[in-house]
Amino acid sequence: MPRLGVLGWPVAHSRSPAIHNAAFAALGMGGWRYQRLPVAPELFEQTVRALPGSGFLGANVTIPHKQAALAVADEASGAAREIGAANTLSFSPDGAIAAENTDAPGLIAALGQSPRGMRAMVLGAGGSARAAAWALRQAGAAEVLVWNRTGERAQELARELGVRAVKAPQAADLLVNCTSVGLDLEAGLERSPSEPGVLNQLPLTFDQVGEYSYVVDLVYRAGSTQLLAAAEAHGLRTLDGLEILLAQGALSFELWTGRKPPIAVMRRAVREQGGSL
Ligand code: NAP
Repeated sequence: MPRLGVLGWPVAHSRSPAIHNAAFAALGMGGWRYQRLPVAPELFEQTVRALPGSGFLGANVTIPHKQAALAVADEASGAAREIGAANTLSFSPDGAIAAENTDAPGLIAALGQSPRGMRAMVLGAGGSARAAAWALRQAGAAEVLVWNRTGERAQELARELGVRAVKAPQAADLLVNCTSVGLDLEAGLERSPSEPGVLNQLPLTFDQVGEYSYVVDLVYRAGSTQLLAAAEAHGLRTLDGLEILLAQGALSFELWTGRKPPIAVMRRAVREQGGSL
């Protein structure tokens, strides 16, 4: 029975099993199973090395293991190497481990339009910001700017990936929130997004959100975030984190199975299921 899974710590609320198992059912892949693989950091490498011998064809990787996943791999794609993180591992019959990053192409696919020629403002300097900045630059964005609460991390990211760090968010065509701000379920959603202070964890006012054309929030949760609510109130195009989660999952699915992912089924599964990646 071919097995797949998601390695994380914690991983109890991951939506990935729902996405992939729904796809297996829709395509009649009866013997396939995708499961949660809760693994503490100190056990990551030995667990990954044991997976191929236990019937696993591959695994997704989430917080906090994406860098370790790249380190443990025998070979890695150019994207994974340049981003410095992998979210998808594939195992050969001989146990060799290949690392890929589908977060980056997943973001571009989910955008639904090419960022070519756009000026993009990325908020954050963690793992997902690295993937987003790399993906946008690769896909031909005219300029990729990065702001982070801790400025040195933005400068380091900018140096390594060939983008530009800024001291405050600047107006652009595209705004991509890669910080975890917005995960807080209670924060401000009962108030109008135009009230002062609602966006106060990000250095953006309601009016400044209106200076973008397209606003993307990687935070995945049922319902809107304050940032997306503000963008919607301005009538801007928006994209939420569940669509990006779906897109990276669909790319991983295709990589492992060679089958065309049933996107509509997977979308229904990701939106019905509670929890996070
Ligand atoms: P990470 O590596 O831990 O980075 C977290 C980022 O958030 C850092 O830039 C951090 O800034 C910033 N941050 C945290 N609290 C903040 C605050 N109160 N104010 C301003 N900035 C703050 O995490 P990650 O893996 O990049 O993930 C970031 C978010 O994206 C999470 O919510 C995650 O769930 C989501 N995500 C979604 C997908 C998807 O498929 N939709 C994929 C990956 C991640 P400092 O450097 O200053 O600490």
